[in-house]
Amino acid sequence: MRVAIVGSGPSGFYAAGHLLKARPDAEVDVFERLATPWGLVRGGVAPDHPKIKSVARVFEKTAADPRLRFFGNVEVGADVAHDELCAWYDAVVYAVGTPVGRRAGLPGGELPGAHTATEFVGWYNGHPDHRDLEIDLLSAQRAVVIGHGNVAVDVARMLCLTRAELAATDIADHALEVLATAPVREIVLVGRRGPEQAAFTTPELLELGELADADVVVDEAELDVAAAVREQDLDATARRNLDILARYAQRRPQGRRKRIVLRFCASPVQLLGHDRVRAIRLARNQLVRDAGGAVRARPTAETGDVPAGLVLEAIGYAGTPVAGVPFEAGRGLIPNDGAGRVVGDDGRPVAGAYVAGWVKRGPSGVIGTNKKCAQQTVDALLGDVETGALAVRGACPSGEEVEGRLRDRVGALVTYRDWQAIDAHERALGVAAGGRPRVKLTRREDLLAFAGRG
Ligand code: NAP
Repeated sequence: MRVAIVGSGPSGFYAAGHLLKARPDAEVDVFERLATPWGLVRGGVAPDHPKIKSVARVFEKTAADPRLRFFGNVEVGADVAHDELCAWYDAVVYAVGTPVGRRAGLPGGELPGAHTATEFVGWYNGHPDHRDLEIDLLSAQRAVVIGHGNVAVDVARMLCLTRAELAATDIADHALEVLATAPVREIVLVGRRGPEQAAFTTPELLELGELADADVVVDEAELDVAAAVREQDLDATARRNLDILARYAQRRPQGRRKRIVLRFCASPVQLLGHDRVRAIRLARNQLVRDAGGAVRARPTAETGDVPAGLVLEAIGYAGTPVAGVPFEAGRGLIPNDGAGRVVGDDGRPVAGAYVAGWVKRGPSGVIGTNKKCAQQTVDALLGDVETGALAVRGACPSGEEVEGRLRDRVGALVTYRDWQAIDAHERALGVAAGGRPRVKLTRREDLLAFAGRG
């Protein structure tokens, strides 16, 4: 049985691992647009969270299986078509993630100084798509981050780390110096709903209170704003978060160099400025319950302007379409039956096409959540083999044949051994730089120079 997995992030590699374990006769080829594997683990997880990144070791074990091939620098939908993959493989699993940061579409959102958190995260993580982002961190004393999710918390924390803290991470070299010397002194995290509805998780909230160089500031009055719609049975995370926020509200600022201010029940209305962002207008929100009982933010006429030279929107992600594969533009996802079978416009499964991870269920959950999600997809695929809905042809081109075809198309095919050469090189640079975990190569051409070197 030969299966193509498109995307080498957590969901792709969890799917590969589960499939190889479940079917001794399975062979998996993993296609990756970039020259490097591991998706968000390399390009999204905050540099100061090495423990989260250590999941790459699980994926390395999967990649060591001789039944797996890695084809890096191959873009499905451009270098190779969906129909071709369907002809070459028994099944194709799309695990392409949701690479685009959502925008609220605010007036003034196009001004210099306004970015998605996705771009900023990609920039400091050395993602080749974002490494040349024109971001001015030298003009902003205050940054406003829109959203109360873990990405918002990540970017706020990264803006507060000291040079020594940054230097201990694998942050891209080009970002290290800029962040270490940035004049930002205050980061305001703006959530449209109340503290109970905040999407950040407890360990991440606690981390904000433990920063060496920043005080965390919460206005006690804002914590009560949601009392009118308070649920009787708050879930455990909301209860713990409320406790922590209440403690933060009692804290006296310690005179640290920076401050992180958490604001609730406020929505962005407009970015202000001519040549660049100078301020953001926020509307105070009321919280109301909708007919289904969900707590919603309703803007009031009360607005206020917060001066800021940098505005980062951290309000979630969306997928991008792959040519030839169904796509639901509104949600930015590949439509599926909930178990991982891709469905077409007629609502019927597309033979041989499956989907896993964020582009299947939306950008939510921690990395481990993708394990269950990917297993569910692979189980659906194997179930289809059992019922005969998916035929194992036994006549697919071999891995070598596919590799030959790809080499003819893309100038520089990056194999897993080539990636291992990149990995060793980056780690060696890290040692030479005084014991950093690695110094990342961030330019496509520098990475592609390793094609064939493995
Ligand atoms: P998220 O958890 O969905 O948070 C998005 C935030 O944006 C929410 O506070 C949401 O508010 C707000 N928002 C959405 N649309 C908005 C709008 N139009 N105006 C104002 N605010 C708006 O998304 P995320 O932070 O991008 O994280 C994605 C996933 O990755 C999450 O599951 C997260 O836990 C995970 N992650 C984990 C870690 C970690 O484990 N350390 C780190 C980073 C990310 P509402 O709730 O009101 O919609």
